[in-house]
Amino acid sequence: MVYLDYASATPLDESVLNAMNPYYINKFYNPSALYLKAKSVKQDIDNARKNVAKIIGAKSSEIIFTAGGTEANNLAISGIMNTFKGSNCVISKIEHESVIAPASIYKCTKLTVNNLGIMEVDKLNNLVDENTVLVSVMLANNEIGTIQPIKELSKQIKNIRTKRQKNGNNLPIYLHTDATQACNYIDLHVSKLGVDLLTLNGGKIYGPKQSGMLFVRTGVKLQSQILGGNQERTLRSGTENVPGIIGFAQALIKTESIKTSEAKRLKELQNCAFEFIAKNLPGVTVNGSLKNRLPNNIHITVDSKDNERMLMELDERGFMCATGSACSASNDKPSHVLSAIGLTDNQARSSLRITLGRQTTKKDMINFLNTLKEVILL
Ligand code: PLP
Repeated sequence: MVYLDYASATPLDESVLNAMNPYYINKFYNPSALYLKAKSVKQDIDNARKNVAKIIGAKSSEIIFTAGGTEANNLAISGIMNTFKGSNCVISKIEHESVIAPASIYKCTKLTVNNLGIMEVDKLNNLVDENTVLVSVMLANNEIGTIQPIKELSKQIKNIRTKRQKNGNNLPIYLHTDATQACNYIDLHVSKLGVDLLTLNGGKIYGPKQSGMLFVRTGVKLQSQILGGNQERTLRSGTENVPGIIGFAQALIKTESIKTSEAKRLKELQNCAFEFIAKNLPGVTVNGSLKNRLPNNIHITVDSKDNERMLMELDERGFMCATGSACSASNDKPSHVLSAIGLTDNQARSSLRITLGRQTTKKDMINFLNTLKEVILL
């Protein structure tokens, strides 16, 4: 079987498993306990925090470990919106459900994307008013893999801040980005990106599921969503998931060390697929920008073909891929991302997402493309 659904889940890296193992039995202690063995576990968490902070150009105190990307996104959105009651937020039309759902509790408007799946930054000013406290736009999309112009967005937000200050409006305006899918391939330096909050997810970077973090820039005010023993600077109570934190940090270190080479390797496989499609598969369209795109994402619409049927035929022939994002694949609604880029419901139901990863070889890609051709001709 060839796995081509890396945007949905990644296998644990062996170095991650080795780093986590001691914390299940020998170093099982509660990091808040006062004996030396427990203090040493606390020290290990602090080191993991330091390593993670260094990679994203942050301070250790700005890293809040969470149980995955969903929780980090909820903490960012609800944490800020509950702090500034009566304010509003702006998100993009192609955010993951874990941003859309919490944002929808509050007053929220949505920034459109063009038909290539790139956010229309110049429309931000029309949506922001004097009560907007948060803008949340993902760094790369989980369905079509498009990379969003976060640096440009950050510049616009800086201008809005300056204007506000001149007008005597002291309400902050923060920029949050969900970098869950971008993490394997894109520079995450928070100051270069110009973000105030950033989500990372261990389950997508060959680390453990239900591990991840939220970067919260010093000075950003947000309310805790989980109350209790005041761990993680009171922002995320609960005894720390020590193996998860250690595993997440190791996964991020590993990902960072092979980021450039993996991006280059996968870009070649992606180009090979795009060329094959253009030459050999006339009824197939690639969705989303080809230029501003993660190197591991191939998203296609196959004229008049049912995607679930194609998925099953591919599965039977040894290839695992997805019809959309795993989260929306469980309901029958066509994906909001594909609607946002102008696909009809029928086109959305004829679409497949193929995502590559560390174990994908050129041979896998060629075999997959030939099999896809066979399945399309059925
Ligand atoms: N954000 C993005 C962009 C995602 O792709 C996902 C998962 O697919 C999440 C957040 C949520 O991750 P999790 O379900 O691991 O919490």
